[in-house]
Amino acid sequence: MRRAVATVPHYRERYAATGTLPPLTRDEAGLRLHLLMPLGSSLLARRDPGRPATEHLAELRDALRLAGHRTGGREVYEVSPALRDPVRAYGTDWRVLLATTADALPQVSERYGATEPGPGGDALVVADAGQLRDPGTGALTAAGPVTVERVTLAAAARTRPAPGSLWYEPWLGHLGGVPADCGELHLSASRVHARLLDGATVLTLLRRRRPTFVHVRPEGAGSFAPASCPRHGVPILGRTP
Ligand SMILES: [Zn+2]
Repeated sequence: MRRAVATVPHYRERYAATGTLPPLTRDEAGLRLHLLMPLGSSLLARRDPGRPATEHLAELRDALRLAGHRTGGREVYEVSPALRDPVRAYGTDWRVLLATTADALPQVSERYGATEPGPGGDALVVADAGQLRDPGTGALTAAGPVTVERVTLAAAARTRPAPGSLWYEPWLGHLGGVPADCGELHLSASRVHARLLDGATVLTLLRRRRPTFVHVRPEGAGSFAPASCPRHGVPILGRTP
């Protein structure tokens, strides 16, 4: 937080005005994205290579481990609205499956669809809850391999996430997982810090600097508060009564 105030224009402004860092909302983050970059490393769309795939995969791997999934030696597919080439890292082949909701040109689907055999029997398939259901019937699609559901805090507030689910926020990434033996929402503690700020749960991403996210309040945070797992003694977001 000190570093954010020292180096990121958005937090400098907010802190100078009020002496505190009020929660950052999604709308505010969208409008002020350029001000969430540290000084001297602003976002230059044309030259910016984006977030390295290895960082994204390290985060996904941590969340999968928290949720009790083994990744070494098996393929992991992520259902995504955009394609990328497979990446080999941590003894795993990380691939993407194009979401059925994605707008793809027929020639793109053909090129990737025809050459890729699709997930094998031992593969993990990570997808948002809606992506695992047939859009027509609403039934869970039997993908064959092990499917891992990805839920947001807003969804977790409505329905208790299934054991083995991952916690994922569109803006923030993979932040935790739900082990089968306790069913609690474990935090990826080296990546995200949760605290109460004026009675509201806010999150700070500890490793992500471009953009820098401090005191973010995701939708659904009102139903959760930082706690410690009654079974494992590690940081969780516990359901508030
Ligand atoms: Zn636990």
